Amino acid sequence: MFGPTVDALKSFCWKIRCPPKMKHFLWQLVTGCIAVKKNLQARGINGDICCARCDTDEESVNHVFFECPPALRVWALSKIPSNPAIFPTGSLFTNMDHLFWRIYPQLDDHQFAWILWYIWKGRNNKVFSNLDMDPRETIKLAETESTLWAEAQIVK
Ligand SMILES: [Zn+2]
Repeated sequence: MFGPTVDALKSFCWKIRCPPKMKHFLWQLVTGCIAVKKNLQARGINGDICCARCDTDEESVNHVFFECPPALRVWALSKIPSNPAIFPTGSLFTNMDHLFWRIYPQLDDHQFAWILWYIWKGRNNKVFSNLDMDPRETIKLAETESTLWAEAQIVK
């Protein structure tokens, strides 16, 4: 399953309709290069690897974006349909594959890029400033910013 299909995910990152910084972020996400605690541990950096937002599970990439309770709330509030059997699941690969190609009914934008971006901001707010970002605030930011960006593209 891994190999060419992960390559397909990686190359699609650059085709997503979002700002370059987000494309780069998504690329890091599908390659697993995001600095979550579990990845830092794999690189030999010691410290606790428990998720700061829920204090229950290990902080893996999939946990932060698709399993942690505040992240699940964000997806539930979003216009992307949630279904425990299909999305979000325990597999990062399956989740990204779903967001890239399998959202049904199909959406005419790539708002998921902003959602992932602001979930990551929420995680960082907690880890670095001990601030709790409300999932409703996260989804509102994602919706507002993606709309503004889309409008700016038309003006250009
Ligand atoms: Zn968590």
